[in-house]
Amino acid sequence: MNAPLAGAGRTDVGRRRDFNEDAFAVDLENGLFAIADGMGGAAAGEVASGIAIATLTEFIARTATGAPHERPYGWDERLSAQANRLRSAILLANEKIYRTIEEHEEMKGMGTTLVAALARDSGVCVGHVGDSRVYLWRDGLLRQITNDHSWVNEQVSLGLLSREEASRHPFRNVITRALGSREQVSPDVTEVPLSPGDRLLLCSDGLTNMLDDRRILQILDAHPGDHDRAASELVAQANEAGGEDNVTVIVAGLSG
Ligand code: CA
Repeated sequence: MNAPLAGAGRTDVGRRRDFNEDAFAVDLENGLFAIADGMGGAAAGEVASGIAIATLTEFIARTATGAPHERPYGWDERLSAQANRLRSAILLANEKIYRTIEEHEEMKGMGTTLVAALARDSGVCVGHVGDSRVYLWRDGLLRQITNDHSWVNEQVSLGLLSREEASRHPFRNVITRALGSREQVSPDVTEVPLSPGDRLLLCSDGLTNMLDDRRILQILDAHPGDHDRAASELVAQANEAGGEDNVTVIVAGLSG
């Protein structure tokens, strides 16, 4: 039995962009929460993020019965069955986008991030590619669960940039992994145990480039137990701070 999760998502074009290339899914029935941040300009970014979310939700719904998967796509022995299910869905989304680009020359260069949380026994599996994030809010503290696949984050890991420098760096939007850019992709998948009262925040960089972690924490603290209100307020505050990019957030937690 999966942990019952409640949650709410919001997306907004922001104040500077003409199109919203972010996409998200909140599937309470299957315990799935996901955000994709598309890139590629014109309509292509929307296409990539749309395929990612549609492929993920379709695969998770189709494999919800607990029956063995018809093919353990990209099975990783080190991961649990549920984590492998999420990993398979992400690999499949990459393949769909990659094939779409092969068939449509004009979509060359499109890609998307993908971050997803899938309920499991007493917590969630978290999978991601790119710089969209998952945070865990627990007992008034906010901790980033995902490790950005971005150039600046690599520089921080190497000790060549501070976190502060990274947040203002002109290359801060350069990501080192994306869905659709290569035939093979390597998602990070981890398992996060949840306790009553814990909350998860999923977001695109349109939130984190506008609001620092301290401000995000303040907003979550101001709206305990109301995921919908917290999500709306995070989007509103990102726009208030300039809204330079599309912004998408999901706030979720154990229900009951
Ligand atoms: Ca973005």
